Amino acid sequence: MSRSPAQSRRVSACALLLSALLAGCGGSSSAPSSDDASIPLGPSRCGDVAERPWCDRSLAPQARAELLLDRMTLLQKLQLMAGDNIIAAATGDPANGVVDGIPELGIPTIYMSDGPTGPREGQATAMPSPLSQASSFDPALAYRIGRTIATEVRFKGNDILHAPTVDVMRLPQAGRTFETFGEDPYLTTRFGVEWIRGAQSRGVIGNVKHYLMNTQEGLIGLPPITSVIGSRQLVNAIVDERTMREIYMPPFEAAVKEADVGSVMCAYNFVNGPAACGSRYLLQQVLRDDWGFDGFVVSDYVLAVKDTVLSVNNGTEIEMPLGMFYAPLLLQVSVLTGAIPMETIDVRVGNILRTLFRFGFFDRADFPADDSLIDQPAHAVVAREVAEQGTVLLKNDGTLPLDAAKLAKIAVIGEPATLRPSGGGSSAVDPFRFVSPLDGITARAGSGVEVAYLDGSDAVAAAALAADADVALVFVADSATEGVDKTCLSLDCPPLLPGLPAARPQDALVAAVAAANPRTVVVLQTAGPVLTPWRDGVAALLAAWYPGQEAGSALARVLFGDTDPGGRLPLTFPELEGDTPTAGNPAQYPGLLNQALYTEGVFIGYRWYDENAVAPAFPFGFGLSYTQFAPSDLQLQPRADGSVLAALTMRNTGPRAGWAVPQLYVGLPSPSEEVPQPPRALKGFAKQWLQPGGSQRFEFLLDARAFSYWDVGSQGWRIATGCYAVEGGQSSRELPLRATLARDSEGGWSVGGC
Ligand code: BGC
Repeated sequence: MSRSPAQSRRVSACALLLSALLAGCGGSSSAPSSDDASIPLGPSRCGDVAERPWCDRSLAPQARAELLLDRMTLLQKLQLMAGDNIIAAATGDPANGVVDGIPELGIPTIYMSDGPTGPREGQATAMPSPLSQASSFDPALAYRIGRTIATEVRFKGNDILHAPTVDVMRLPQAGRTFETFGEDPYLTTRFGVEWIRGAQSRGVIGNVKHYLMNTQEGLIGLPPITSVIGSRQLVNAIVDERTMREIYMPPFEAAVKEADVGSVMCAYNFVNGPAACGSRYLLQQVLRDDWGFDGFVVSDYVLAVKDTVLSVNNGTEIEMPLGMFYAPLLLQVSVLTGAIPMETIDVRVGNILRTLFRFGFFDRADFPADDSLIDQPAHAVVAREVAEQGTVLLKNDGTLPLDAAKLAKIAVIGEPATLRPSGGGSSAVDPFRFVSPLDGITARAGSGVEVAYLDGSDAVAAAALAADADVALVFVADSATEGVDKTCLSLDCPPLLPGLPAARPQDALVAAVAAANPRTVVVLQTAGPVLTPWRDGVAALLAAWYPGQEAGSALARVLFGDTDPGGRLPLTFPELEGDTPTAGNPAQYPGLLNQALYTEGVFIGYRWYDENAVAPAFPFGFGLSYTQFAPSDLQLQPRADGSVLAALTMRNTGPRAGWAVPQLYVGLPSPSEEVPQPPRALKGFAKQWLQPGGSQRFEFLLDARAFSYWDVGSQGWRIATGCYAVEGGQSSRELPLRATLARDSEGGWSVGGC
């Protein structure tokens, strides 16, 4: 049973009318605004409690699920275990995923939507890419992003949101780097938790993805579907348990324990043998037994479930977007032959029902599918703010911020100044509107400044235009998509598929313009890090990532100094292609015969660069402001519960107000040779607007986990005795503050004790 948008609108109109009338009866004269917390839920879809006792809202979700399960036939149960509309996955009509309901039991149809930058049913607010979101270093903003996207998902009639993506980035060239929160598990965790809390505050069920080890798409591909070499659907990640527990699992663990996420999407790939969607270790032992997850697992779309019996028995509740291995007949035969115990079906379906009851899914009307309920201007403000907060200033000789009063002519060069580069695949959103960088800059510069544009296809003409201008702004971009990895990190990377047009020679364009005008500012609109061989010759450099629909307004505000560049790098920019952790070793990436060896272990991102003393082009955590900050006075205070309170002060020593982003890193001692530790790992960060001369003290609570390593032998978190280095500053490579903590064999701390 699927629902057309027109039907949805009729249902929703009735529900809204009814709620408005009810609100009127209650004496309320003010209608709720379309986008606030009091969106009416409308009447329950469950039915009469006398006939359907599970509709009794006073009962706990578990009790209601049991009552309903008791009334279901085997076929009805199996019907809930798979999607019912494969076309919807591609078209978004009526939703990106549909599981038909069972009207005779009062079970409504479940609608699912992508994704991390906005919903994909028709037009929506196109948020900046998740990498831009994470560059804000502001989890409170992550909450607002999750809430905003979930609001739209809800007003498109959907119940479940396939987001956020919390796969920790292992490979900068991976096709979905743009969709991650970067290379650090702690930053990814803080972002994921707040993002999910924001989304679920709307009554929408978060579906955190992709569990686990979905770190590559593969090479030579048919994007956004699959690749030929090391494809995400076939690759087996061979990775040790400590690395999973410490690097790749924490964002999922916190999604369960802290954000109480309703749903987890299992990944396409295999992990140490079994498919992620059929892995007893991942789905039962870790997710449910260790972390206490009581929601349901949804498979990634098409062939993430690779068999019937293992996937059901080991923990995947719903196969999407269609029942292939979960076709009712296959499931029925598996139950009748005893390969899948009947009790296991009850557990799986019980998990689905209990979660739906927990989220109030039965006790409300359909969410209205009506775009007119979306407060587009308010959501555009969020998108703009994220783009401002996520833009990272990597270099500045003083050319920025621009002062319109002192400029007669600005040269804007490069086609990406007029386009909206964005990641392809399930994160691609059709925006409600788009402000291009060229339009944003022209509007902000005002009528007194001439803004001249060339697309950069003729480097000689571009250089001539730049020479004749007060300042040249060069826009460069890459392309990246789900389904295939980038072939390299250069802006002049060969095409994703043989036969496609080669990238424009953007490095040569930047060099030519910079040679013609010393006041050349380069704006990168890229999926992730790129090589910047020309950077010594440019005046300023910004990483704007994929900045979403409000790109132009946000970039203009940053370039002209209406705000301070708020972003800090959530990943490392390498100097050279060969500097990345897996470079030159095909066994690590893309893997040989679909076996990818994670032999770098916990040494990914800056952990690897630090350990191997490789100088990056720009380090993790780095980003300039238009003002300067002085960190000082790092103090550590052990507390009775075993945690340590760290505090430091940031002072704005420059002439302007700006964003201070203090960061705290801890270096752990190695308990043995088998447990090597990187020099440092991020354990705390904050973000604060500080006026010139202003200062603020920041506190970071370091709990037991901050000092722990995963001990494979005892299967638990342990704190080694020895010396811990605590460092504070403004990036992983600018840490002027340092203190030490000694851990004795009794578990006590002494400050400065080593
Ligand atoms: C992606 C998921 C997405 C799903 C539905 C898959 O290809 O890997 O992230 O949620 O499609 O669009």
